[in-house]
Amino acid sequence: MKIDFIVCHYDEIGLKGGNRKFFEEKLVSNIKDMLTRSFPGCFESVRRISGRIIIGLKPEGKISFEEMKSILKNVFGISYFSPVFSVKQDMDVIKNKSVEILEEKEFENFRISTKRSNKEYRLTSQQVNVEVGSFVVEKMNKKVKLEDSDIDLRIEIVENKAFLYTERVEGPGGLPVGTAGKLIGLLSGGIDSPVSSYYLVKRGAKLVFVHFHSAPYTMQSSVDKVEELVTVLNQFQTKSKIYFVPFGNIQKEIMFNTPEKLRVILYRRFMFAIAQEIAKKEGALGFVTGESLGQVASQTLENMGVVENAVTLPVFRPLIGFDKKEIIEKAEEIGSYDISIRPHDDCCSLFLPKHPETKAKLNEVLEAEKKLDVIGLIGKTIQETEVKVFD
Ligand code: ATP
Ligand code: MG
Repeated sequence: MKIDFIVCHYDEIGLKGGNRKFFEEKLVSNIKDMLTRSFPGCFESVRRISGRIIIGLKPEGKISFEEMKSILKNVFGISYFSPVFSVKQDMDVIKNKSVEILEEKEFENFRISTKRSNKEYRLTSQQVNVEVGSFVVEKMNKKVKLEDSDIDLRIEIVENKAFLYTERVEGPGGLPVGTAGKLIGLLSGGIDSPVSSYYLVKRGAKLVFVHFHSAPYTMQSSVDKVEELVTVLNQFQTKSKIYFVPFGNIQKEIMFNTPEKLRVILYRRFMFAIAQEIAKKEGALGFVTGESLGQVASQTLENMGVVENAVTLPVFRPLIGFDKKEIIEKAEEIGSYDISIRPHDDCCSLFLPKHPETKAKLNEVLEAEKKLDVIGLIGKTIQETEVKVFD
C-alpha cells in the first residue's frame, strides 16, 4: 500500500512566538533542498499546516519511504516524522482504511490515538477512538490495550483530511540550519573539530569551514581528508564552503623569529586572525573550535584566553566540557570518526616545541608578536587561500 504523505513534527520551533513563521519556512525550504539534492523530483509539495510540515508524494513516485527517511533523519528541526495515509474526513472511510492498514501488520492488541487540530470536526478525539476501535475489534477480532499495546494507530484530523499512521521515526531535533546566522568552523582533520561544527549546525547555524595546511612542508597532506570531513558535515547542511589556507610560511616566520615555547600559541593567534578576515568577507558572526578543557597544552584556560585575544568575534567551543571518549562516540555516530583517525600531518605539529607554554601571558605573547609583520603575513596568506564548495 503506497503512502500519500510524510508528516514531519517539530517541537522547539513551536516556542518561538513571533519568529515561528520564519523557523517553519526555513524548515520547509531545508526539507525541499535536502530531498531534492539526493532525489530530485521526489515530492509534489512541502507545506506547513496546523503545526506540522507535510510532504506530498507523487502518486507515481519511485522513491521509497526508506530512501527519504535516510535524508529526513539529518534535517535539523524535525523531532519526528511518519509515513501517512491520507483519507477524507468520513468515519466510514477512516474505519475501512484503519482495518486495511492494520491487516498488513502482525499484532495481538492495539490502540487508536486520535488528535484533532480541526476542532470543528463533529466527533471528539475520544469518540473517534471508540468508533474506530470497536470497528477494528469487530472486523479483525483483536483486543484493545491502552498501555504497551503492540500497535498504536494514530489518526490526526487536520484541515479537511484524516492522516493515519502507525510508524514514528525519530528526527535529529535541533533547529533549522540557517535560522541562527553564519559561523566559521575551524576544521583541523582531527576527531574533535567536525563534532564541534556538527553541534552548531544542529542549533541552526550555517557553517563555513576553514582549514590551515602546511603544504608544501608536510608529506601527508590533510587537504583530502578535510574534504571528506566536509562531505560528512554537508549531509546536515547544503552547499558547504571551505577555505584552504596555506599556513607553512607563517609557521616558518614564527619559528625563526619568536621563542620556541610560544610557537603553538602564535600559530593559533594567526589562525584566528586569518579566520576573522574570512568571517568578515562571509558575514559570519563567530568561530567554532573543537577545544576541550585541558586536553592538550594549547587548551588550558590561560592559553585559550591569550589566543582568543587575537580576535574580536566570539569563539564557541561546544566540546569544552566533553571527555575524549564522549567526543569519539559522537564522531562515530555522525560518521566522521573513521576519516578523522587516518594519519595526516597536522600543521600545528610541524616545528612543534619540546616544552610548549601551558600558562601563556598575554604581554609576553604580544611582545613576541612584535617581531613579525602580522598584517603583511595575513594579507599575503589570504591572497593564496583557495575555496571549494560542496553541493
Ligand atoms: P582536533 O581533534 O579537532 O584536531 P585537537 O584535540 O587536535 O582537535 P588542537 O590541535 O589543539 O586540538 O586544535 C584545537 C582546535 O583548533 C581544533 O579543534 C580546530 O577547531 C582548530 N584547529 C587546529 N588545527 C587546525 C587547522 N589546521 N585548521 C583549522 N583549524 C584548526
Ligand atoms: Mg588536532
